[in-house]
Amino acid sequence: MKIGFAGLGNMGAPMAVNLVNAGHEVTGFDPVGVVPEGVSAARSAQEAARDADVVITMLPNGAIAQSVANKILPAMTHGAVLLDCSTIDVASARAIDQLAQDHGVGFLDAPVSGGVGGAVSGTLTFMVGGTDQALEIAGPLFDVMGQKSVHCGPAGNGQAAKICNNMILGITMIGTCEAFALADKLGLDRQAMFDVVSTSSGYSWTMNAYCPAPGIGPQSPADNNYKPGFSAELMLKDLRLSQQAAGDVDADTPMGAAATALYQTFVEQEDGAGQDFSAMLPRFEKRNRT
Ligand code: NAD
Repeated sequence: MKIGFAGLGNMGAPMAVNLVNAGHEVTGFDPVGVVPEGVSAARSAQEAARDADVVITMLPNGAIAQSVANKILPAMTHGAVLLDCSTIDVASARAIDQLAQDHGVGFLDAPVSGGVGGAVSGTLTFMVGGTDQALEIAGPLFDVMGQKSVHCGPAGNGQAAKICNNMILGITMIGTCEAFALADKLGLDRQAMFDVVSTSSGYSWTMNAYCPAPGIGPQSPADNNYKPGFSAELMLKDLRLSQQAAGDVDADTPMGAAATALYQTFVEQEDGAGQDFSAMLPRFEKRNRT
């Protein structure tokens, strides 16, 4: 397939490389100018998009995704598909879908989970919103860049699935970390705590697969001095998106709101910036009840 790619950052660059390695012809653009080997460099996003069967965007936020979509949609072939894999707000995804329809272009929002490691190894999970027709064209690319894709419904539903998942993730990580900190103060050995919780009703992905306690459970960023992994800043970004969406549809999300406030304090006022989101555990360790 002829593929245009805009946004060749930490995630986009390895995704583009996997497409090249699978035999696709990829033309990419990033204003910072880092185009990986095998990808043809374009001078603009429009140039990358021209004549492409599918244009993939992997960008920082909804405002940038909308601005890039505004530029590239007029340059795209009628019937081609714009595939936005960025994590953005639901409203922006639905606005881009409308704009794409106006230009006779298909649109899929397909945010990912799996992080930079998953992007490099081609094992991302895609949460997909959009039409069956668009999915028929762009769907095979999910098998190249990832190992699983779930069609969640119409445009915007991929983002909805992503922020609901990550709201659970943020809340659960905080719960796991505060429970470890409490266990420490109660004199409960961390390995014993893990052995019980990971096989009892408190089990979760954050305990069983991504344990925030160093040396306990499978390898995780905690074993690498909390180097991300999934950074506390990205967790905060996704939690904020969940609260923006909850506000838009008048949904009551008290735990999501509390997790957002805690990660905001951690990132903006404490030492959370640049650390993995599981570094909440050393944060709780240092603190008292008041
Ligand atoms: P990044 O900052 O490394 O990459 C974004 C890239 O977009 C940058 O290289 C930037 O120069 C480029 N860009 C900005 N404006 C542009 C424009 N107008 N045209 C073309 N390119 C432009 O970020 P990332 O870590 O690669 O994340 C990308 C997206 O994936 C984000 O939405 C993020 O939330 C999501 N995500 C990231 C991770 C992760 O672990 N890094 C995991 C899941 C989802």
